[in-house]
Amino acid sequence: MWPNSSLSELLRAAGKGVTALLFPPRCFICGTSQAELRPLCPRCLEEIEVFAGALCAICGHPVKEGVDICRECAVEPRPYAWARALGPHRGVLRVLVLGMKEGERALARLLSGLLVSFLPRDAEIIAYVPPDPGRKGTWHAAEGLARELSRLSGIPLEGLLVKTRSTPPQVSLGYEERRANLEGAFSARRVGRGERVVLVDDVYTTGTTAAECSRALVSAGFGEVMVLTASRTVRHED
Ligand SMILES: [Zn+2]
Ligand SMILES: [Zn+2]
Repeated sequence: MWPNSSLSELLRAAGKGVTALLFPPRCFICGTSQAELRPLCPRCLEEIEVFAGALCAICGHPVKEGVDICRECAVEPRPYAWARALGPHRGVLRVLVLGMKEGERALARLLSGLLVSFLPRDAEIIAYVPPDPGRKGTWHAAEGLARELSRLSGIPLEGLLVKTRSTPPQVSLGYEERRANLEGAFSARRVGRGERVVLVDDVYTTGTTAAECSRALVSAGFGEVMVLTASRTVRHED
């Protein structure tokens, strides 16, 4: 659950801004003191809700047993092969994702340890959704998560994408506006040769960001794109 974490690695991480989390060691969720240097106590770790039932074969949204693809994927072509997330963006998992976005690097390690088994064996590159050019600060959660996944799997990390213009937050927009907002906002840094790419992000919401990034990769010559996120928002079960 917390693989490859040696004390020296954790101390190195502490120097990069998780000091408050580690000294004294307290659970990030409930604040209980812990004997070991871990971001979560065993009880909160078990509280992480992961997808257990049937999922849309394309976007990974929960579906009823026996259903192949969800209503949205039935009408909208997706430029990626599939998308998967650990679980729904709520409860403990949501708090962990938000904490990771705010700079808790230890949480990127924890979440990558849980996500690593989702990586397809034949993936050749791990890439990530790039930050908005207007964003301040050096920590970018999607990149941090991708970096940890690369370290755990040995699949090379490459910053294949760049966001070429700043866009308003997707949250404030309706469906059509989301698409228009991001259309052409991402481009590949190099030409692809059919490599199969895992695209990492922190959270999958409507899938517009994943779709626009995938379009940029495919049109640059990369092969199949598979999307991996820590969490994803869910509608009513399809
Ligand atoms: Zn706890
Ligand atoms: Zn779907």
